[in-house]
Amino acid sequence: MADQQSDRELGPDMVRIAGVGGQPAEATLHVCVDGVEVAVEPGTTLLEAARGAGAFVPTLCNDDRLAPYGSCRVCLVRVDGARGPVASCVTPCTDGMRVSTRDPGTVRAARSVLELMVSQLPERALDVPAERSELVRVCEHFGVWANDFGTAYGSARGFDFSHPYVKLDRDLCIACGRCVRMCDEVQATFALTLASRGYATLVVPGSGGTWATSDCVACGGCVSSCPSGALSEPGFLDLRPVSGTTTTTCGYCGVGCTLQVHTRDDAVVAVTPALDGPVNRGHACVKGRFAHGFARHRERLTTPLLRRGGRGSPLEPVSWGEALGFLADRLGRIRATFGPDAIAMICSSRATNEENYLAQKFMRAGIGTSNIDNCSRLCHAPSAAGLVASLGLSGGTNSMEDMEQADCFLLAGTNTTEAHPVVGARIKQAVLRGARLVVVDPRRIELADFADVHLRGRPGSNVAVFNGLAHVLVEEGLVDEVFLKERADGWDELRSLLADYPPERVEELSGVPVDELRRAALLYGRAARPAIVYGLGITEHMHGTDGVRTLANLAILTGHVGTPQGCGVNPLRGQNNVQGASDMGSLPDLLPGYQKVVDDAARGRFEATWGVGLPARPGMRIPEMFDAAISGRLKALYVFGEDIMSTDPDTGHVQAALEACELVVSQEIFLSRTAASADVVLPGASFLEKDGTFCNFDRRFQRVRPALPPPGEARTDFDVILAVSDALGIDVGIRTPAEAMRECASLAPLYAGISHERLDREGALHWPCRSVDAPGEPTLYLEGFATASGRAQLAAKDYLPPGEEPDAAYPYVLITGRRLEHYNAGTMTLRTPNRDLVPGEWLEMAPDDARRLGVHDGDKVEVISRRGSVAVPARPTPRASSGEVFLSFHFPEAPSNVLTSRVVDTVTSCPEYKVTAVQVRPL
Ligand code: SF4
Repeated sequence: MADQQSDRELGPDMVRIAGVGGQPAEATLHVCVDGVEVAVEPGTTLLEAARGAGAFVPTLCNDDRLAPYGSCRVCLVRVDGARGPVASCVTPCTDGMRVSTRDPGTVRAARSVLELMVSQLPERALDVPAERSELVRVCEHFGVWANDFGTAYGSARGFDFSHPYVKLDRDLCIACGRCVRMCDEVQATFALTLASRGYATLVVPGSGGTWATSDCVACGGCVSSCPSGALSEPGFLDLRPVSGTTTTTCGYCGVGCTLQVHTRDDAVVAVTPALDGPVNRGHACVKGRFAHGFARHRERLTTPLLRRGGRGSPLEPVSWGEALGFLADRLGRIRATFGPDAIAMICSSRATNEENYLAQKFMRAGIGTSNIDNCSRLCHAPSAAGLVASLGLSGGTNSMEDMEQADCFLLAGTNTTEAHPVVGARIKQAVLRGARLVVVDPRRIELADFADVHLRGRPGSNVAVFNGLAHVLVEEGLVDEVFLKERADGWDELRSLLADYPPERVEELSGVPVDELRRAALLYGRAARPAIVYGLGITEHMHGTDGVRTLANLAILTGHVGTPQGCGVNPLRGQNNVQGASDMGSLPDLLPGYQKVVDDAARGRFEATWGVGLPARPGMRIPEMFDAAISGRLKALYVFGEDIMSTDPDTGHVQAALEACELVVSQEIFLSRTAASADVVLPGASFLEKDGTFCNFDRRFQRVRPALPPPGEARTDFDVILAVSDALGIDVGIRTPAEAMRECASLAPLYAGISHERLDREGALHWPCRSVDAPGEPTLYLEGFATASGRAQLAAKDYLPPGEEPDAAYPYVLITGRRLEHYNAGTMTLRTPNRDLVPGEWLEMAPDDARRLGVHDGDKVEVISRRGSVAVPARPTPRASSGEVFLSFHFPEAPSNVLTSRVVDTVTSCPEYKVTAVQVRPL
């Protein structure tokens, strides 16, 4: 936290300490540490002041991610006038203090404390490499050696190796409490405690039993903080040094955690969160932190595969030359016979920005079609449409840093602690610090336990609930009339619509009790800095775009967007680069930087740079691609990094589309269900093997760097698309990811200032970043909204029922979503020990529904929709409301998308994954 800078007033030997949050603060106290004058703000500890003065003070119980604790006492310093040594980590500076970190008597005292501590430890504590053990480094500092270690317990306390990722060697525990505090203060799961007293004190799961059966969510915070090696992870049980460490961005969810990937012998040894990660600041979750075993899994695709004998024949390994020759021949013939629009590509929200940029350029400039789309169609297309219509840009309005300043969260349709765990943990921390929390979700998700109010509306009733909240804001005089007058349009129309949404009617439409709706509106409306954070529970509906717009209304009505005191409206993006794939123009109607295909001037700029005419009409969206394949208009479908057979709704329809195509290409890292249905399979690379960038949920570009080469003959997806282009004789004009980013920046004003070189220098940049000198905009719209009028647009949208409603034949509503330990189609996480943590799917159902059906925990049931059925064990749980059931889509053996319908958002064609009418039958 110390920010040393020259300051004439302080003199050459003086340093100034930055304030909380990295903001320079007014320094009012002056402290002298080892002869160096330091100016600090009130509240600065002696440890921070000493660091600011360039002095080294050893610590063991201190972790900068945690509140000061002061238990280990190895950070002793002498303060003039004090009666004895003081613990620097918990002692605040006072003006005029004179501090010595080198006073011989104090150093002796600290050494004695350390000797006492290690006298309880076995010598093997010193075997842990110094770079992984603060204890070893502190011992080296004080000259404490092996013969100071004792044998009080020897190896008597044993191990808890029950958990696949968190390994406890009890004999190395020094009871510093860092693991417990990480679990409490950073992860806010409260799974650990210190048990016993005196020398016998050690960490244990708070629930008793083993680590594996505890409440641990395997974020790895405890492991990363443990200073002695008592807590370790599998890769680091092997004490050999790693051969390389690569800093990159997580390839799982859209939070965008910065990770350090440690490798040896061409494999990942361990992944640790970067302490200076701009978003995660030394935290991560069970996926990014531990689920890396898939990278060298034996089932990775390492050569191209081809059905040499045509449909019905097996996929056989072939050379790149043969696969590319086949592909060029078939794609070339289809294009020549049926025209370029007979070809379509589904791009990858998992792939880098540069790969998506290259892919859409290949399709538009090379093949000559706009038939390109990405999986944002299935998740956040309504966010793009809704936020653009209401505010102007296709991204969340505020940064993670802004959101942390919120005094109230309105969390809607997001199971944040499971789907975006690091953001979820931050929200829990904010609530524990005093922020208020309103949860809008039909399920009793974990964050509902932290909430002041939980609005448990029926699936599909979001618009009614948001209109009801707005009604109360108006009724209670919580609307910012000045803001509306100066910065928004549509108030009169909305006000008249809201008159039809009194809480009593909203209760009828949604099931949300009147009192709770009122309470939620008052919490949001009276907050000074409220933040709206939402997820797929808002977008994946027949009226998903209306859901986004009516949610955005709340921020506009109260003036809490586009203002310094507003924390805005923030969609949590599901996949790691779903924001970036759309940013890069992997969309049928939008070129990179959200420039419209139909805009002649915008298209003309791309044509001039690319040297080729581009299709002036938007292409097909994903659902239209499937329909066109079945009707015979689409002949070739190139699916890049998506398992559409698992993730897209109504699997039977998707299968029929693939079967109808003359050519299906799958570019994948494993033989997914989609790859298994393809005619040719091209082996791609995982995020651990790539060079480029991702863009996370708060519009932050961050670097992705290769820690490993792709296995066997697999290639990065960038190289695969280049090879396919070359085979077709198409010159895409760029040969490296850095060139792709440079070209994109030159064509898309939103990213004009972004380059790999700059990201390598500066770490991360928010878009819009309109020039190489611009810092990027973490907070949007401070100078005006980006709509045509420059004003926010309120939306008067009536509640309309969902596409499928329960009836006598299908009386339950199925909601689908994610679970913490797994990710999307399970392609990666199911090939890691995450499968040991959660081995299979189950149906969540309300206890009263289970009782009515005579279903007990673990009983197998059949879930049946109008399209198919899935058999799974049932688990009665209060997380589910009566009449509602929940399944994830992670497990191939429980393919929930067999059940989901083809109902889509009326504006964007995003499927209605959150409302499917089903029946449940005990087996
Ligand atoms: Fe962070 Fe998301 Fe990766 Fe977890 S999955 S480490 S929360 S980016």
